[in-house]
Amino acid sequence: MAAAIRLGARGYRVTVLERLAEAGGRASVFRQDGFVFDAGPTIITAPFLLEELWALAGKRFADEIELHSVSPFYRIHFNDGAVFECSSDPEFMRAQVRRLAPGDLAGYEKFVALSEAIYKIGFERLAHKAFGSFTDMLRILPDLVRLSGYRSVAGLVNAHIKDKRLRIALSFHPLLVGGNPLNTSAIYCLILFLERKSGVHFPRGGTGALVRGMVGLIEGQGSLVRTGVTVSRILVENGRAVGVEVEGGEAVHADVVVSNGCAGWTYKNLLAGQKRKRWTDRKIKRAKFSMGLFVWYFGTSRTWDEVPHHSILLGPRHDELLRDIFDRKFLAGDFSLYLHRPTATDPELAPAGCDGFYVLSPVPNLLGDVDWRVMAERYRAVIEASLNETVLPGLSVSIVTSRVLTPLDFESRYLSLHGAGFGMDPRLMQSAWFRPHNASEEVKNLFLVGAGTHPGAGVPGVLSSARVLDEVVPDAVAFRR
Ligand SMILES: Cc1cc2nc3c(=O)[nH]c(=O)nc-3n(C[C@H](O)[C@H](O)[C@H](O)COP(=O)(O)OP(=O)(O)OC[C@H]3O[C@@H](n4cnc5c(N)ncnc54)[C@H](O)[C@@H]3O)c2cc1C
Repeated sequence: MAAAIRLGARGYRVTVLERLAEAGGRASVFRQDGFVFDAGPTIITAPFLLEELWALAGKRFADEIELHSVSPFYRIHFNDGAVFECSSDPEFMRAQVRRLAPGDLAGYEKFVALSEAIYKIGFERLAHKAFGSFTDMLRILPDLVRLSGYRSVAGLVNAHIKDKRLRIALSFHPLLVGGNPLNTSAIYCLILFLERKSGVHFPRGGTGALVRGMVGLIEGQGSLVRTGVTVSRILVENGRAVGVEVEGGEAVHADVVVSNGCAGWTYKNLLAGQKRKRWTDRKIKRAKFSMGLFVWYFGTSRTWDEVPHHSILLGPRHDELLRDIFDRKFLAGDFSLYLHRPTATDPELAPAGCDGFYVLSPVPNLLGDVDWRVMAERYRAVIEASLNETVLPGLSVSIVTSRVLTPLDFESRYLSLHGAGFGMDPRLMQSAWFRPHNASEEVKNLFLVGAGTHPGAGVPGVLSSARVLDEVVPDAVAFRR
């Protein structure tokens, strides 16, 4: 949708084809029994990227969206009972570190300074640049080396911090974009500074308010959002994309085609008949995909006012749990959870006196052999018992509505290869030039946007990928005859 708005501002009339009944994709909304559940993104950072979209459409973001700062950003509960909170206030953060691991204060300060330096290059300079040629990659090599991009996030954090708990608190961010902190490039340490610099926000009405706002911008530009339409094939003539065919056989012709679907799915299935130089089925098969997500959305007949908007509940194991999820693709009996309580910020997302939640557990993607048809309810029940014993006492007798998403749903709803939560994982060898390019390497006039292309997943990532299109999509005037 960000791509549609940007192209609309550049003179294109855009038709957005969306297979679901509503726009938003991973950011779509479930409404159930009076509760409003944002299905996906909840930690909204980099609001300036959203403001820019509104400005491009001739509107003011603040006139349409009421954005609230969330503070603390999140509360992390360690398995030993210790708690750590994060916010944008440097003094508050120092006090948090001093309380948890006084000996790590100096290392912490150094790490935050490094995270800022990485942000300045990784986000401000590279996130919205196209990596269309290997020379682009070579050009950033000195910065990559200088900023330790060849190391992992966990490796860089561990070099500065000794306390095991603080190490986790400063290194979990790649999980927000589908990466394993143990092998995701330290460039992703930029997320820590991005949060500190631009804050963590939540719109009144939930993330869905952003989606509705963006649909309004697209329609206001004279473009169109067609829902319930699945693209089955990209039409190619003489090596150029000329439109798409949708299920049912209708052809939708276009000067330019932008795929926001899973990049692997796009190449494997939407260009199935096309000879591909780079993104062959073999290469896609060998690519590493992000983890799956198990998400349980539930509403309760009471509230837990002491539970903040965002909590992270860490289990007994860390590195080995990550290896189970990413490498062994084994569904372990223990887990670490992210708990979302949007009603902490906007009580109107649930009926009066009630709380709405979702709890998310990173799990193996469908390349593991978990049978989610059997496991979904068992896994949900274990998570419920764990929440009931810890942060939500009394939960089990208060649930009034419930729904789960498993990796099977990510595959069937979003057509995400292997049911991955975030497309290809963001390891160094699948980032920048190594990731599917924003201007397709296979077909002219085909462009890729969203989590599967550069720079990658997460709301700031996908909004930045739409900015890259400004650089690689020709001006609409090029097609006026
Ligand atoms: C549970 C969860 C929590 C998250 N939390 C956060 C967070 O707190 N903060 C954050 O920044 N990010 C978060 N993310 C990540 C972020 O939501 C995603 O990276 C981002 O929304 C992906 O956007 P996208 O446009 O690339 O993909 P999508 O949102 O999946 O959009 C692709 C769209 O294309 C449609 N589509 C696919 N194939 C076809 C086809 N053939 N024909 C027609 N339509 C098709 C899909 O239905 C979908 O609507 C979260 C993700 C999840 C799943």
